[in-house]
Amino acid sequence: MFRVFGLAFLFLLTISSCGKSIDSQNRKSAYFDGAAEVNSRRLTSRNLDGGNWMSHGRTYSEQRYSPLSQISVETISNLGLVWSFDLDTKRGIESTSLVIDGVMYMTSAWSIVYALDAKTGELLWKYDPNISKDKQRHACCDVVNRGVAAWQGKIFLGTLDGRLEALDALTGEVEWSVATVDPELPYTITGAPRVINGLVMIGNGGAEFGVRGFIAAYDYETGDEVWKFYTVPGNPENGFENEAMRMASSTWTGKHWEIGGGGGTVWDSMAYDSELDLMYIGVGNGTPWNQSIRSPGGGDNLFLSSIVALRPNTGEYVWHYQTTPGETWDYTATQHIILADLMLEGELRKILMQAPKNGFFYVLDRATGELLSANNYIDVNWATHVDLDTGRPVEIEGARYPEKPAMIFPSYLGGHNWHPMSFSPDTGLTYIPVLDFPAVYAQPENYSYRSAGANLGTDGIIGSLPDAQSERDALRAMMRGRLLAWNPSTNSEAWRVEYTGPWNGGTLSTGGGLVFQGTADSEFVAYKADSGDRLWSFPTQTGVVAAPISYSIDGEQYISVNVGWGGAYALVFGEYVRAESMPNVSRVLTFKLDSAGQLPPVEWEQKVYFNPPKLKADPETIRRGYGQYMDNCNGCHGLNAVSGLLVADLRASGYLHDAESWNSVVVDGALSSKGMASFSELLSREESNDIRAYVIQQAWRGKKVQEERNLSSGGK
Ligand code: CA
Repeated sequence: MFRVFGLAFLFLLTISSCGKSIDSQNRKSAYFDGAAEVNSRRLTSRNLDGGNWMSHGRTYSEQRYSPLSQISVETISNLGLVWSFDLDTKRGIESTSLVIDGVMYMTSAWSIVYALDAKTGELLWKYDPNISKDKQRHACCDVVNRGVAAWQGKIFLGTLDGRLEALDALTGEVEWSVATVDPELPYTITGAPRVINGLVMIGNGGAEFGVRGFIAAYDYETGDEVWKFYTVPGNPENGFENEAMRMASSTWTGKHWEIGGGGGTVWDSMAYDSELDLMYIGVGNGTPWNQSIRSPGGGDNLFLSSIVALRPNTGEYVWHYQTTPGETWDYTATQHIILADLMLEGELRKILMQAPKNGFFYVLDRATGELLSANNYIDVNWATHVDLDTGRPVEIEGARYPEKPAMIFPSYLGGHNWHPMSFSPDTGLTYIPVLDFPAVYAQPENYSYRSAGANLGTDGIIGSLPDAQSERDALRAMMRGRLLAWNPSTNSEAWRVEYTGPWNGGTLSTGGGLVFQGTADSEFVAYKADSGDRLWSFPTQTGVVAAPISYSIDGEQYISVNVGWGGAYALVFGEYVRAESMPNVSRVLTFKLDSAGQLPPVEWEQKVYFNPPKLKADPETIRRGYGQYMDNCNGCHGLNAVSGLLVADLRASGYLHDAESWNSVVVDGALSSKGMASFSELLSREESNDIRAYVIQQAWRGKKVQEERNLSSGGK
């Protein structure tokens, strides 16, 4: 493939050296030095070439705004599919593609990278880092990857098992590979690296299990680590890495380093201002979620749930703003950070904006970290408002579930999760994929840290679904999602589009006056950016969670989106996902004007074939199994054993039929190579048997509900 591609370069070189179009000269100069020739000059130029998408959020400001305007409010009705590329997976697709000088670089599930001809969809190369399938037990939120970075002819990939790798952009061959984390610990990487001044920046995830969060920078040529910034302090007896850690340490109580390390992972967002020479990172939740366990005497627990500004060349701390002091609800501030210059009260301000999980939209001065405004973008009931004088939320009594369980808006999946928002400098609006549903939090009956397992520190049974189907159906009405256009200048809503449910895709805004978004219910939609009027749609045959991009080649504008249902909501909320039968059909879909491509029909069946054995266990055993299920299994196999279709529905499993074969999988790891790791460090055979009893009970329950539904729909 490399050779064929190389010949194409020579051909381009030949035409452009004859003095043909400017377009081919541009291609030539880029190809002359090799593919993916990204550098500081190209990424920070004021007149940044709108035809490319060279960094995760297109530019360092992460606005996800394409200035291209050929596809516009006037022409959108002629937009159609020009090519599609089938991905070899049935797991979630969260990646934003890069397009650099005619080549698309995108990632699939399991950290697999594809290079495609962006004009035709032809495969140029594929790189598979061969992640061990049982690593998924440490992936809280599906085996996803959100994309690669490019710099000076190299493509940089963070792998699920914690490697950072540099690939030759022409061939996909590995140039270097470094372990960024201790492979014994439950770290994962799902985020896209960014490159600033030749340093490749990458963080990691794992705070649901127990890790100490950090971000590190690596030399793009060698992979050598240049700096590392921890987001939470370690044990003070070991000394502090820097003054920022000394300051942070005074905001913690207890011994969090003995129960997982405190969390605070930097698993997604970064942005960079080259004039201020500041990079911004979003920091995640604590381990465990429950602060009364993590830091029993309270405290803000810096830098959890914070935006932190760092010097990109050294990793030196400059300022921070904490969105949720002492967080206890999994309220990460890892959500997308956008930089813009806005007129505020008659003054042009360099601002930073974020809509983190906690439900408030923040506008900060990005030079100093000063809070300029904060307003809730969904209904929240953990705080009344953010006090602009102190910069702190004013909490509502009981929201920390000290004694009684509390139903809190928003849930642990947030009012906004990783799905990128976008900002249009034309409309001055930000387009947020909003989630709107609650979660019930409660103190656990007893808690002890488990080095091999999830550590949320909340009561799993109380946090699960009600048993009565009528109550589950009623809860469905509370599971909402929308596209929200938000004005950061006034910190208020401009318009909204309600969807059938949560977990819709990231957004793109364009110079054509458009906003594009894929949806959970399998559509790719274009809206008028100033009004929210729906102008165009395409059936994607699968739920869409990733964000679209736009680029141009040979004078033609393209819109491309990676589709394939998945991620945390798809895994955990099987009860609602299954009822709405979202298939996973993972593909790259690319559109241009005057094209009318069709996708082949998809066959999909969402029915569960229940065939459970007799239920012999007593209620106490089943209750114990329920608790163990919620502590160990629900993150992948779904709340109350209802799978969201991405992984096996245990209620229909043949392994249910005898305890020996069940334990051969759960305890002995018989299906480890297929992704079901051994849980021998966490579960005894007896505890595994208890889980089996619970799943058998839930299988009978599911069978009964299915039969009742068949009857009420006339036996169809
Ligand atoms: Ca989390």
